[in-house]
Amino acid sequence: MRVTPRFDVVVVGASIGGCTAARLFALAGARVALVERRPDPGAYKVVCTHQILSSAVPTIERLGLAARLEARGAVRTHLAAWSPYGGWMHFPTEAPYGYGVTRWTLDPILRELAIDTPGVEFFPGMTVVGLLSEDGRPVGVRIETPKRAAQSMRARLLVGADGRGSTIARLAGVPGRVRPHNRFYYFAYWRGVQPRTTRARLWFLDPDGAAAFPNEDDLTVVVAAPHRSRLQEFRADPEKAYQRMVAALPDGPDIAHAERASKLIGKLEVPNVMRPAARPGVAFVGDAALATDPSFGVGCGWAFESAAWLVDHTRTALLGGGDLDRGLDRYRRAFRRRLGLEHWLIADMSSGRKLRWNERTAFRAATGDPFVARALEEVAARRRSSLRMLDPRLTLRVLRQAGRAPVP
Ligand SMILES: Cc1cc2nc3c(=O)[nH]c(=O)nc-3n(C[C@H](O)[C@H](O)[C@H](O)COP(=O)(O)OP(=O)(O)OC[C@H]3O[C@@H](n4cnc5c(N)ncnc54)[C@H](O)[C@@H]3O)c2cc1C
Repeated sequence: MRVTPRFDVVVVGASIGGCTAARLFALAGARVALVERRPDPGAYKVVCTHQILSSAVPTIERLGLAARLEARGAVRTHLAAWSPYGGWMHFPTEAPYGYGVTRWTLDPILRELAIDTPGVEFFPGMTVVGLLSEDGRPVGVRIETPKRAAQSMRARLLVGADGRGSTIARLAGVPGRVRPHNRFYYFAYWRGVQPRTTRARLWFLDPDGAAAFPNEDDLTVVVAAPHRSRLQEFRADPEKAYQRMVAALPDGPDIAHAERASKLIGKLEVPNVMRPAARPGVAFVGDAALATDPSFGVGCGWAFESAAWLVDHTRTALLGGGDLDRGLDRYRRAFRRRLGLEHWLIADMSSGRKLRWNERTAFRAATGDPFVARALEEVAARRRSSLRMLDPRLTLRVLRQAGRAPVP
């Protein structure tokens, strides 16, 4: 009879969240199974524009990933934001940097780092199709091999790092709360875009959005994020509609003189989904815990960060034989405390509503007042909570600017 292998942790999904969790658990001394349905260790996520916010850089460094990414040409980026209410906000360049690096570079490097970590066993081409449970508590997974053979593995902790529409969440009966979004995405890669910049640029066109993010190998991913009301226009001729929208961007990337380096990639449905990040015996990281509308470019960063929080809240109990479920509950609460409000605000803006007076006024103030601009950058890069904007000194300065130059 075949013996079911036992691990401390089974991590399902070898992308950003899963590889981060697997490596950090293993570095802490755990025996980790990393299960990934895609058979190719070089696989990468195609539908992602991969601007990584600076809030995630400490985790990227902790993983030992930063030097590898930089050796491969990852660009140290700083945010820049434009709105019709005054133009470019004066975001500081001396702020902590994020990274611009394509997923076809990032994913294989991160996966290699994770699977080379002593303590991690990698199971590529294996799809989790069921859970092993005892008294209602998940204690392992049933997996299907590429030849459709069945296998099982057991663990004290099961980690769902299996992205949007998480199978683990469905199998464990942990539904997500869905909030609607009303933008869609078309993007393509361009080489040699002018002006050359290390700024990750965002356009808040109210209600449309757009972005241009520099990456390794002189590649820029240029993104159109129109309001859903423009769906017909894009459906009729996506290429023309995309190029028209990019050409109309104020101070936009000059794609007319750049080399096109990819086909046009479209994504229409990206609802906001949040679920409790842990239950007894099981935790979720990255998109499996919280999948947000991509307009704010938070998903990769939060996948890195949430995996690190999970490890920090559970490793002592996991490896010292302590109360794992208490650790999981601490992680669930920490996740909610750090990302709950941010997610709620992003979901609200992703509804496609027009910017409110206070937002327009703050954007206008950030074009002239470095103090306001610095605060907005900290919040946009997710290094500080959105509560930062409630600082009375900020409110005063925003109102003063509004008095000088009222917004419509
Ligand atoms: C259009 C678009 C643009 C985006 N742009 C940005 C951006 O600029 N910046 C940013 O930070 N984020 C962006 N995101 C979000 C980002 O792509 C995700 O947040 C990020 O990939 C989440 O990583 P993850 O590890 O949680 O999940 P994923 O990257 O989705 O990985 C899940 C993994 O689980 C595996 N898996 C799934 N089911 C199973 C199973 N049953 N068994 C075994 N393995 C399984 C999958 O094969 C996959 O490898 C964007 C998203 C979209 C849609």
